[in-house]
Amino acid sequence: MPERTESDSRKLLRRLRDTLATPAKGQERLDRITRLIAHSMGTQVCSIYLFRDPETLELCATEGLKAASVHQTRLKLGEGLVGRVARFGQPVNTGSAPAERGFRYMPETGEEIYSSFLGVPIQRVGEKLGVLVVQSREARQFSDDEVYGLEVVAMVLAEMAELGAFLGEGEAMARVHTRPVLFRGATGQEGSAEGRVWLHEPRVVVTNPVGDDPEKESARLAVAVAELREAVDRMLANALSTDADHLEVLETYRMFANSRGWMRRMEEDIARGLSAEAAVEKEQSSARARLEQASDPYLRDRLYDLDDLSNRLLRLLTGQGADTGAEMPENPVLVARNIGPAELLDYGRRLRGVVLEEGSVGSHAAIVARALAIPLVIHAQRITSEALNGDAILVDGDQGLVHLRPEETVAHAFRDKIAMQAEAQSSYASLRELPAAGTCGTHIALFMNAGLMADLPSLVGSGADGVGLFRTELQFLIRNQVPRRGELAAIYSRVMDAAGHRPVVFRTLDIGSDKVLPSMKPQDEPNPAMGWRAIRVGLDKPGILRMQVQALIRAAKGRPLTVMFPFIANRGEFLTARKILTDEVLREAAQGRTVPSQVEVGAMLETPSLAFAPQEFFDEVDFISIGGNDLKQFFFAADRENERVRRRYDTLDTSFLALLEQIIDRCARSDTPLSFCGEDAGRPIEAVTFAALGLRTLSMRPASIGPVKHLIRRVNLMDLKDVIDEARASGAESVRAAVTGWLARQ
Ligand code: PEP
Ligand code: MG
Repeated sequence: MPERTESDSRKLLRRLRDTLATPAKGQERLDRITRLIAHSMGTQVCSIYLFRDPETLELCATEGLKAASVHQTRLKLGEGLVGRVARFGQPVNTGSAPAERGFRYMPETGEEIYSSFLGVPIQRVGEKLGVLVVQSREARQFSDDEVYGLEVVAMVLAEMAELGAFLGEGEAMARVHTRPVLFRGATGQEGSAEGRVWLHEPRVVVTNPVGDDPEKESARLAVAVAELREAVDRMLANALSTDADHLEVLETYRMFANSRGWMRRMEEDIARGLSAEAAVEKEQSSARARLEQASDPYLRDRLYDLDDLSNRLLRLLTGQGADTGAEMPENPVLVARNIGPAELLDYGRRLRGVVLEEGSVGSHAAIVARALAIPLVIHAQRITSEALNGDAILVDGDQGLVHLRPEETVAHAFRDKIAMQAEAQSSYASLRELPAAGTCGTHIALFMNAGLMADLPSLVGSGADGVGLFRTELQFLIRNQVPRRGELAAIYSRVMDAAGHRPVVFRTLDIGSDKVLPSMKPQDEPNPAMGWRAIRVGLDKPGILRMQVQALIRAAKGRPLTVMFPFIANRGEFLTARKILTDEVLREAAQGRTVPSQVEVGAMLETPSLAFAPQEFFDEVDFISIGGNDLKQFFFAADRENERVRRRYDTLDTSFLALLEQIIDRCARSDTPLSFCGEDAGRPIEAVTFAALGLRTLSMRPASIGPVKHLIRRVNLMDLKDVIDEARASGAESVRAAVTGWLARQ
């Protein structure tokens, strides 16, 4: 075998580039390339396998194996040595392929006579394109140098594939980013949407994977890296010293940007003939492949840091900014790895849907998407590598599915579903002015949950009786600094203006747990949902709470004011919080300012403990609102953000209903108004069950008011109560089957 040198490698890369420059069919190019590589590496075999769908590789060209097996031999991801290379994105190098674990013999190729095997992935920044293999008769391991050389070649092939150099007949030779792909994620916000992809961070296109002059490429890289280091230093100098997480990320950036190993590897790639941009991508791809195997969340975070940094470097090298000048399509569906609440809010209601690779149901972005009523799918892994701006996309927020570039039949069925939903929505619109009363005559007040100014137009449109929960933290989460009192007072006042005569229940800041303010030092807590959050922060550091209640008092401008405190666990917390509010009212009055005509102060019941509070609490509190999302997670000890357990226990479980009934009873005894404002209030079956048990006020997403009212108006709540009681008497764990069965028979 000839000794491989840097100049051999450059020669090969130049030849590869020439095949790209010469007009030819994709198949011809691949054939020529396998010949070139086998010759240059001194091996008897060189084969290129490409994906024909995300699970299947197809032999697309070979020098050395039987020609009849081309486009016939196929392997599943993970199958055989080729499948293993593709699955893990790492080379396999063995002197004795048949003895290797997972080896699969493919008789049609005639490969049995070749003992040594070296396969490297053809991949580009998280995007798996295929596998490049060389084989030879003599039983020997390939040297590190040869492995490295083949990886460099594979990088060039990946860029060529991306540029459409291998187009031809059949699925495996189709243009990349043209196949339909289904992503199975999780629901962030229900609803369905059809639209076109709008990438939050568009991909950088590398048009010159091969560099002619290594010195020139090296110099370009050095200039770009110097610029990158300066930019990172500037970011560090400007960062808030209180934000430990942000500082840690920037420090990691600085570490990567100054890493000698990183620089050295890219220099070596360039010496072998890659352009500076292809060298950056090669290191980014292989680091990604390595770190993706890591289950340690810390290491995975570092992967994102390295990705961000590599993308910055690519933008510096190519001059391609985040703003590519492309026009946003008409029905944009935002696709991103993750997005902050403020950025999402900037896009606002223009978006038809949002698809994220990361995120969680309780993340700020999810909260904003919910407030904007935009369907959201989270955990759609790899979608940013697969999707291109303008691709057709269907978002099924109900099932957590995303169809990218769907087949027409899928799109057709999906459109039918959207049309049915739209029809149902318009039939709900006709109910807007009608009361939510059961056939038994019992009236249920339906309020809406809100948190942004953008929510307010829904107040009239949905026919809500008022705002049962205004989540004030959203105004804090979407800003980098704590908003000023005057700013908040103006916002709260506009909310009250928009509500007119309808009441608005303002919940004071519920931060901590998943909701970390950008301006606050994050707490390192073992279990943040049960940690220093909500009213606990308000009572321990009352400065912000005081400022917020002052803003509310001023916003009222003499109108009645309704405030509730989140996450109250005992009577003492409520009394202390209420005193802060009443003291502020007195202080404002003493200063001659207008105070609200009436102040109602309530507590959110979100911990089981409060249901067992002394009777005095129920007598003293002006009203109670059940925060079912939190109450349920603590009652069943099942994290509301953990996909594995969050749906494990049924809201209609008889134990949970017994807890609700006890709260309803105690409130009835003290004549304390009671409402339910968790997500379950917006689910029609749950809502009628709560109503049958005696809840008279429900607060929900505006879009849920129509469906909930529609069902309430068809149900005799007394009869439904009998159905529930019978199911409980029969020993059922949940009353769901009995309730849905009875409703279906009505
Ligand atoms: C709840 O816990 O049910 C609730 C309404 O509050 P949040 O969802 O904002 O925690
Ligand atoms: Mg809550």
